Amino acid sequence: FETAAANCIITANNNPKTPLSSISSINLEQGDPMAFEAFWRKLGDKCTMVISGSDLMSYLSDMGNVCWFLVPELAEAINNLHHGVDNAVSDGRHIVIGTGSTQLYQAALYALSSPGGPEPISVVSAAPYYSQYPAETDYLRSGLYKWDGDANTFDKNNGAYIEVINSPNNPDGTIREAVLAKVNRSAEGKLIHDLAYYWPQYTPITGAADHDIMLFTLSKCTGHAGSRIGWALVKDTEVARKMTRFIELGSIGVSKESQLRAAKILGIVCDDYPNFFEYGRRLMSERWNMLRQVIRQSGVFGLPEYPLEYCNFTGKFTNSHPGFAWLESKEDEDCEKLLRAERIMARGGRRFGADAKYARVSMLSREEIFNIFLERLSAIQAPFASLP
Ligand code: PMP
Repeated sequence: FETAAANCIITANNNPKTPLSSISSINLEQGDPMAFEAFWRKLGDKCTMVISGSDLMSYLSDMGNVCWFLVPELAEAINNLHHGVDNAVSDGRHIVIGTGSTQLYQAALYALSSPGGPEPISVVSAAPYYSQYPAETDYLRSGLYKWDGDANTFDKNNGAYIEVINSPNNPDGTIREAVLAKVNRSAEGKLIHDLAYYWPQYTPITGAADHDIMLFTLSKCTGHAGSRIGWALVKDTEVARKMTRFIELGSIGVSKESQLRAAKILGIVCDDYPNFFEYGRRLMSERWNMLRQVIRQSGVFGLPEYPLEYCNFTGKFTNSHPGFAWLESKEDEDCEKLLRAERIMARGGRRFGADAKYARVSMLSREEIFNIFLERLSAIQAPFASLP
C-alpha cells in the first residue's frame, strides 16, 4: 500500500461512493490494486465463505510445520498455484506466511542478520528501488541491519550485506538479477528476492525462480491487498525458523480468517486456469496500449520499453505490462510536479533513489480512475506536439 504518513494525502477516489465529477485529485501515488475488482465481483458467491462463531479460535495450526501458524489449506493452495503458473520452485521449500509480504521482508532481514555482529549489516537494492525498502529497513533503528542505499554504488568491499532484488522491479518494471554477486564479492552477501509482480498479468513467465528467499503477496497476485497475506518460499530450515520466530514475537501468527480466504481465492484461480491471469493480462495490456498512445501524442514524457519474451504460462510471446508506469520528463522537469499540475498524484523519482525527472504512477486503479488519468495526461502537451 506504501503509505508514508507524511506524504499520504487521501483524495476523493479512496471512497468509491464519491461522484467522479467531484474528484479534484486522482491518487495514483499508491499501488492499491483495485484493477481486478471487477473480475472478482463477476464471480458472485463463488468465493463467499461462512465462518461460524466457534471456528478458528486456536492460535495453533500445524505444529509439525516450521511455520506452525500456517493453515494447511493455504499451504496446499500456494503449492498448487506455483505448480500451475510455474513461476517459482515450491517443492521442498518452507512456506512462511506473513501479514503481507511487508512483514516477511522484515522477518527475512531479521533471519539473515541475527544474532548480529559489532556492526549492523548493510541492506542495499539497485536504484530505482521500491520506495518502502529504506523506511521499512530503518524505522526501528535495528542494531542488526541498516539501509545502505543503491546496490550499484555500494562500496564496502568484502563486507557483509543483504541485497534485495525486486523482479519485475517496482517502480520501473525491469527484470533484475543480483548486482553485487556479479562483482565477485565475498560469500557474506545474502539475497532476498521480492517477486511480488512475477505473475503472468504483469510479465512473461520465463522460468521457475529458485532462490534462497522468495517473497510473494496476495496483494499483487490476485489484488486482495486487504487480506494482508504474503508468503515466503525459503530453502534453509534455520532461516525459515527465524522468520517464523520474528512473526511469532510480533503478532503470534497471521489471521486464520485471512489465510482461509486466501486459500479459497487461490483455489478458484487454480481451478479455473488461465481465466484470472488471462483477464489480468488483457486488462494490463489494454491499459498499457492506451497509455503509450497518449504518451506518444503528448511528446512530454518517456516510458521504458520492455522486450518481447516467450511466456511459458500463456504459450505466447508477450511484453511486460507492469503494475506501475515509470514516467520520465523528456525536458528534465520535475515529473511529479508536472503531473500534480493536472491533478494526478504520482510518487516522485527521488523516493526511489532516482532523479526527480521520473515519477511512478499506479496502473492498477479502478477503470473510472484510469480513464480520468488518461484524459488528464493527454492535456499535458509539448509545444507543437499535435502538429504533423
Ligand atoms: N514488495 C513490493 C515490490 C511491493 O510493491 C509491495 C506492495 N506495494 C510489497 C512488497 C508489499 O506488499 P504487501 O505488504 O501488501 O504484501
